Amino acid sequence: MTKRRIVLITGVSSGFGRALAQEALSQGDIVVGTVRTEQAKRRFESLSESAAHGYLLDVTDFAAIDRVVADVEARIGSIDVLVNNAGYGHEGIMEESPLSDMRQQFEVNVFGPVAMMKAVLPFMRQRRCGRILNITSMGGYITMPGIAYYCGSKFALEGISETVGKEVKAFGIHVTAVAPGSFRTDWAGRSMARTPRSIADYDEIFDPIRQAREAKSGQQLGDPEKAARAMLAIMAEDDPPTHLLLGSDALGLVRDKLSALEEEMSRWESVTLSTDG
Ligand code: NAP
Repeated sequence: MTKRRIVLITGVSSGFGRALAQEALSQGDIVVGTVRTEQAKRRFESLSESAAHGYLLDVTDFAAIDRVVADVEARIGSIDVLVNNAGYGHEGIMEESPLSDMRQQFEVNVFGPVAMMKAVLPFMRQRRCGRILNITSMGGYITMPGIAYYCGSKFALEGISETVGKEVKAFGIHVTAVAPGSFRTDWAGRSMARTPRSIADYDEIFDPIRQAREAKSGQQLGDPEKAARAMLAIMAEDDPPTHLLLGSDALGLVRDKLSALEEEMSRWESVTLSTDG
């Protein structure tokens, strides 16, 4: 009998994490999901009496991460796939936003996923197989005023993800950074941390962006269930991509960014080449 796949997903209370957990369960996977409240744990476990296992975990509690992963391996079985999904968006003009906001953003969106990878890799390396999906964002490629800390955290996770992928490939472990565009989750609603405005000079550039994001919350183009199916398809690939964009908005905006970058590199090429020797 073949072993049922065990998928560990952080942040299964809503959005992508919940959609992915539901889809994976319906495909026959065992899903270990992390949540932050007893109520969310009960709700998650009610999805399947036998195959949905909830763990209380804040991904900034690094000591707890090691305990949870060791417990899953001992009690439930070997983790085949880790999905680093838990994360949130900080919104605020950089000059207005305290460093403590940046620290928290990086604790959750960067240090948390890295700590999760560090915890599962010894087991995956020993077995010479495993999959890791890191949910980044199109904000890991493109930027706009008012989300400097968020984009910084997602650029960081893109870079770390790509690097780790190169480090572990020889052990049969594949790492994919999944960068969604705008999707209908709680990201821009209850989950977003918004720094209050304090410098009038930024009103013109930032107020319309903040208002538009609030107005669009819940009506974004992307469907999290379709994203979940796309992620499951990637998990089944023998040779999965290092980077995967999700959504037409992500594709268009990232392509524009890359061609603008190419144009800028060409324009300044002579200066770039002037420093050799
Ligand atoms: P969501 O519905 O707000 O879900 C976020 C999940 O992360 C929740 O389960 C939340 O748990 C959990 N979480 C937040 N902070 C945590 C912490 N410190 N420790 C443990 N869990 C924590 O939003 P989502 O869009 O599905 O977000 C999932 C990922 O997708 C995030 O990394 C986000 O940046 C990324 N993303 C979203 C979009 C989008 O448009 N939706 C686009 C690109 C990337 P609680 O319920 O306890 O808060």
